[in-house]
Amino acid sequence: MKIIKELARLTNEEAEILKKTGSLGMETADRMIENVVGTSELPFGLGLHFLINGKEYVIPMCIEEPSVVAAASFAAKLAKPSGGFETSSSDPVMIGQIQILGFGNFEKAKNSILNNREKILSKANERDSVLINFGGGAKDIEIRRVDSEMGRMLVVHLLVDVRDAMGANAVNTMCEEVSPLLEELTGGYVRLKIISNLADKRLARAKAVWRKKVLEDSTKGLMKGEEVVDAVLEAYHLAANDPYRCATHNKGIMNGVDAVVIATGNDFRAVEAGAHSYASISGRYKPLTRYHKNKEGDLVGEIELPLAIGTVGGATRTKPEAKVALKILGVGSAKELSEIIASVGLAQNFAALRALATEGIQRGHMRLHAKNIAVTAGAKGSEIEKVSKMMIQEKKINVSKAKEILKKIRK
Ligand code: NAD
Repeated sequence: MKIIKELARLTNEEAEILKKTGSLGMETADRMIENVVGTSELPFGLGLHFLINGKEYVIPMCIEEPSVVAAASFAAKLAKPSGGFETSSSDPVMIGQIQILGFGNFEKAKNSILNNREKILSKANERDSVLINFGGGAKDIEIRRVDSEMGRMLVVHLLVDVRDAMGANAVNTMCEEVSPLLEELTGGYVRLKIISNLADKRLARAKAVWRKKVLEDSTKGLMKGEEVVDAVLEAYHLAANDPYRCATHNKGIMNGVDAVVIATGNDFRAVEAGAHSYASISGRYKPLTRYHKNKEGDLVGEIELPLAIGTVGGATRTKPEAKVALKILGVGSAKELSEIIASVGLAQNFAALRALATEGIQRGHMRLHAKNIAVTAGAKGSEIEKVSKMMIQEKKINVSKAKEILKKIRK
């Protein structure tokens, strides 16, 4: 701390900001990563009105962006009259990749591995008796051929059921464990042995129906229900056919997804990498959600994405607020958590599309944004609301305007 204070010429006050840690004390933070000088906080909000498979959930969401929590809650509220969210998911199977080179004949190497499938799986399973006791472990093997600028490669996919863990450490350990045996079987050498974040065997899905009448009421009668449904479909079809829009469409989904992933102490980079690579798996970047109109003319939304998240391991048990978040959620497994996260992603996306296609997104967003600007300009207590309201009325939301209004108010 002393060194960075001198190097960056931090004032005593600035250095104190870093030292003031929240629920994650300095000692725990120091055990988690390297070169720690402080901790950083995010607001911890609650997503409301979520009815998922007939069960009510209160959903912890950690995010710095205004409107996200309100939008997800609003979408969940509008889905409630038609039964909320229905979900499903595959088994929590992660892929470990082992890259083999210098093996000579590909087919011969491949057959040698496949003929020793059981031996390889039991070698992988020697290392993690805890995971095995929970019904997880290495379950299968797949072989892929990758022809590269550096020659032909044989890639073994070790398919590991990681139960309630995110699984990276568990899978990486197994990949390392079986590598000498794979070298022996193929006569080649192993280079990389690491998990794949394209977790396309660990998919979570959610579906919801938004009734046209509910959608009409949500515009306070300004638009007909049919018009809202069509407007959302038009918005969705732009994303389905244009990567520039699709990036923003999927970003909106990840607003909700990441907020829950972070609240529960999970690895959001892993989830982001998985989501975007899965969105591109067909060779074209596509939306993670799909929408259509059912025969009643109501809007049906669906989402499917890989979700490598855990309720044990990683930081889920070291970050104190992550433990509290999991308790608020009351989830029994990583599978249940992944389905909740998929529902939040769908809700978030629907909320954005509805707002964009009807009143425009800036209205709700600007209210919170204006408050942030007012605080940046130095507004305190009741001044914040006054300054933000005046900026919205004058349709000028920036720090210099906020300062100008503040000056007037204080006079
Ligand atoms: P971990 O090793 O902390 O926990 C997993 C272990 O918990 C299992 O191996 C098992 O022994 C035990 N366990 C206890 N109860 C269990 C249950 N009910 N279900 C399953 N396992 C149970 O963590 P992990 O989940 O293997 O790895 C997650 C961490 O790895 C994250 O912190 C992530 O950031 C990090 N990581 C990610 C990548 C990547 O995504 N590319 C690479 C390396 C590390």
